[in-house]
Amino acid sequence: MTVTRFAPSPTGNLHIGNIRTAILSWMCARSRGGQFVLRIDDTDRERSEERFVESIRADLGWLGLTPDAAVRQSERTGLYERRFEELRAAGRVYPAYETTQELDLKRKVQLGRGLPPIYDRAALTLTDADRAKFAAEGVQPHWRFKLDPGAIEWDDLIRGHQHFDAATMSDPVIRRADGSWLYMLPSVIDDIDLAITHVVRGEDHVSNTALQIQMFAALGASVPLFAHAALLTGAEGKLSKRLGSLGAEHFREEGIEPQAIVSLLARIGTSDPVEPFADPAPLIAAFDFARFGRAPARFDEGELAQLNARIVHQLDYDAVTDRLPAGIDRAGWEAIRPNLTTIADAADWWHVVEGPIDATVDAEDRDFLAAAHRIAGEIDWSSDPWHALTAALKDATGRKGKPLFLPLRRALTGRDHGPDMAALLPLIGRARALERLSA
Ligand code: GLU
Repeated sequence: MTVTRFAPSPTGNLHIGNIRTAILSWMCARSRGGQFVLRIDDTDRERSEERFVESIRADLGWLGLTPDAAVRQSERTGLYERRFEELRAAGRVYPAYETTQELDLKRKVQLGRGLPPIYDRAALTLTDADRAKFAAEGVQPHWRFKLDPGAIEWDDLIRGHQHFDAATMSDPVIRRADGSWLYMLPSVIDDIDLAITHVVRGEDHVSNTALQIQMFAALGASVPLFAHAALLTGAEGKLSKRLGSLGAEHFREEGIEPQAIVSLLARIGTSDPVEPFADPAPLIAAFDFARFGRAPARFDEGELAQLNARIVHQLDYDAVTDRLPAGIDRAGWEAIRPNLTTIADAADWWHVVEGPIDATVDAEDRDFLAAAHRIAGEIDWSSDPWHALTAALKDATGRKGKPLFLPLRRALTGRDHGPDMAALLPLIGRARALERLSA
């Protein structure tokens, strides 16, 4: 069975980049009838905050990306400890004592000599006596994972064949001197323990993957499949700082529906067209990593707004009732809906229905509107008053097209554009229409 996970660190709110990662991971699971796990990466005690754990959960709920299971790394340290001990017994992790300054200096010397700044493994040459001396001085080691020499390769579901040479990489630090964990090893231990089959994440993790593949092997586990999505850029095609600050709250305030976000982020960077899906089922059914390209995906807020309008036009009355101003019924929603870009705009159009409105009338339309007022008082309002009114007015005045329709729309709504008058006029109703035409 397919199991995917989304693994945010609760050091901030989700932004558009990690929302996209969540969507891809969720779609991968859903498209294969699998499970989608939320893993809160909260090993960094200082930077993790409870309010972000809550906002991450709330945002995923709002987006409809409901996890089938949720775990927190801070509650799983016993497992990390056990697996760490196995690696230690097998000689795959080793203690190192260099200070940050010493490591910096080593790197500078290497770079000065034109060498790659790879950790020199000096800690592996320490004797038991050296280590005992550090211990006697109260110096605790940090821990590194010992890479095996040789090629590290995998077939990435998005990037294709990937090749790294372990000789060009430093043994990664996996644990700090105070015993706390860095991201790298707990992530692998969890992926094994939770039986993750597909690791879906951003391409900024590609080199981590090379290191982690060796960790899976060292822990005697099979390696999951990996899909590294290309980074997101702004509409102008550049990596933009703004993207890092755009989160669910911003979009909610802008009146963006979660389905618009899912529809857009599921498709940008793919060879499939961006289309509005009020229900994600067809999006999930068509999901395929092979459709994703390696070029950066462009996120355009203007495109999102347009998509949002198209989503709003599809939304059923039942899905929006609790967000509509009091008084709008199904017919009202259906009349107004095609003119909305956000649901909040419904209030403006409802105001047009209920009034009072501000309408100005051109002098040359006064007689025409007086005739409209008279006819409006005579027609049958029970079925289709707009067609009855305009047909009779056309006969009476000889006007047709724009000179017939526009002054009526202006007088009845105070605007030049808007919802279909045939749908709107019954909502405005006879009394208000007569009053507006006589004004
Ligand atoms: N917490 C890591 C991050 O947010 C998770 C990366 C991963 O998916 O393995 O970047």
